[in-house]
Amino acid sequence: MNTIPYGRQHITEEDIKAVTETLLSTHLTQGPKIAEFEKKFAEYVGAEYAVAVCNGTAGLHIAALSLGLQPGDKVITTPITFSATANCIRYCGAEVVFADIDPDTWLLDIKKVRELLQASPRGTYIGIIPVDFAGRMVNLEAYRKLADEYGLWIIEDACHAPGAYFIDAYGHKQAAGNGQLAHASVFSFHPVKHIACGEGGMITTNDIEVYKELNRLRSHGITKGDDSYINSNVFACGTEDSGSYPGWYMEMQQLGYNYRMTDIQAALGVSQLSQAEQGLKKRRAIAQKYHDAFAGNASVIRQSGYVEGHAYHLYVIEVRDRFKLYEYLKSNGILAQVHYIPVHLMPYYRQSGWKEGDMPHAENYYKHCISLPMYPTLTDEEQQYVINKVLSFVNESNHN
Ligand SMILES: *Cc1c(COP(=O)(O)O)cnc(C)c1O
Repeated sequence: MNTIPYGRQHITEEDIKAVTETLLSTHLTQGPKIAEFEKKFAEYVGAEYAVAVCNGTAGLHIAALSLGLQPGDKVITTPITFSATANCIRYCGAEVVFADIDPDTWLLDIKKVRELLQASPRGTYIGIIPVDFAGRMVNLEAYRKLADEYGLWIIEDACHAPGAYFIDAYGHKQAAGNGQLAHASVFSFHPVKHIACGEGGMITTNDIEVYKELNRLRSHGITKGDDSYINSNVFACGTEDSGSYPGWYMEMQQLGYNYRMTDIQAALGVSQLSQAEQGLKKRRAIAQKYHDAFAGNASVIRQSGYVEGHAYHLYVIEVRDRFKLYEYLKSNGILAQVHYIPVHLMPYYRQSGWKEGDMPHAENYYKHCISLPMYPTLTDEEQQYVINKVLSFVNESNHN
């Protein structure tokens, strides 16, 4: 059997054809595929607007900027995430404040967030960035209520969660990134994620002003072809008589970035998106099989609670001796992974004073967690092999 990774992309003949067509077209970037991908992705998650960017990290950065994040502000996030979630706060010169996870769901614990808010004068914090960790949505309804109470914005880091949803208090499905509860949501199209573009990201929102700001920030802060120009007449432009702007006219009105996605990536994204539901179904079936295989085994702790709508970017378990299980699986050709080393313990964040003991649940989770192979092309036979290896490890008495 070949080595089994924890995650991998699935590229089809259709994907290759879509990319090839774009390569032979007139536009490699700033062409029609971007708009098509944005429109289809917005429809997929049920949001009004979507803005494609060069990766999820860039998406987080300009989402935070578009909501007004500035030096001196404070934003709350989880330590159990990829560093980029916290880093976007630092890009804006603002301060990262970590709150601990719920030890059962492994998601940012809203009770801990509330405690932080209650312990400081109003206005201390400006936003919250919860993460749909492993593909399981946070209860954004509860977060929105809390955020409204304190006048905060929410950026949903939905990089793990395209296609995920939770059921709100009215019994409605609330899809990740649908723009109803978070002010902006960010997705990633890195190859280990659900939809692969090589590199790529998407921001969704229902706020037209945020949408316009994101479009400017993505492309150098440039405005073109609308009625919001600031300069009335740059060197007359030969337009003194007509009073209209010439065709080449554009304005850089603010400091933006080049965070654009290429049409090559967008073509792949459109093609991948058309297979996303199928991939999601397969991920859920794989999760169900793991879930059943480990049910009733006291040595394997699963993400607990309500899991309808989980998008299963990852399938994580906790075991007593995670290091030995990792090594054992590796020696059997299974490349499991650990998600994540708590961000507050990264040397960069330690410089701000974060240390062991600050986030006891996150740190305890980190000591035991391991992500098992989870991707749509994982075969039944491969998965059974993984399950057998995990069970034979944990059931061997000397490991327990
Ligand atoms: C992958 C990921 C990101 C960053 O996305 P990139 O596209 O790799 O920049 C941010 N947050 C989380 C939770 C992620 O998993």
